[in-house]
Amino acid sequence: MLQVLKEKVVIIAKKAENSGLCKHKSGNFSLRDPETGYIVITPSGIAREMLTTRDIAIVDLDGNIIELESRVKPTSELLVHLIAYKTRPDIHGVCHTHSRFATAFAVQSKEIMPIVFEAVAYGIRVPVAKYERPGTQALANTIVEPLKISDACLLEKHGVVTVGKDLDDAYLKAQYVEDVAEIYYRALVLGQKEPEEIPQEDFHSVKHP
Ligand SMILES: [Zn+2]
Repeated sequence: MLQVLKEKVVIIAKKAENSGLCKHKSGNFSLRDPETGYIVITPSGIAREMLTTRDIAIVDLDGNIIELESRVKPTSELLVHLIAYKTRPDIHGVCHTHSRFATAFAVQSKEIMPIVFEAVAYGIRVPVAKYERPGTQALANTIVEPLKISDACLLEKHGVVTVGKDLDDAYLKAQYVEDVAEIYYRALVLGQKEPEEIPQEDFHSVKHP
């Protein structure tokens, strides 16, 4: 069931690998079917070049398996995806990556401040969710408050979560977070001081790039 949606998840997961956003089996992706409310999600521990729709699980909002054709389990960060959908009824796509520049900010527990206008793409801010162990409910709980103010947040010492109206939208935001983090880092090195933040009010007239 939901074959077209499974194909979409596989396509985005492979795109993320090819674009360098995710490496070495890290990162996971899901979407929510608007009709059934089921979550369609990537598995744990499969190299993305080997990934097929058979490995994509369908679960309900409580994580119960509705359909799984192969023996692989859904991603170990399933709880993060589920809580994102519970917190934000308006979203239908979630990306979790360990993209390098953004994760460097997460390691330093440093918010990626809006220093270029692309930040409008994901909600201007990228708050940091406090460190908890991967794969735990405690980790999932940390993203509730950040997702109330932005479509992107950092997981301290870990990675990035973005959400969107669909999976393409969440993926685009993950790319923008990484781009802004890289520009921030390079500006910091180049100027040898913190880049200046763009004032909040200057974003009012800026549309999604
Ligand atoms: Zn992770």
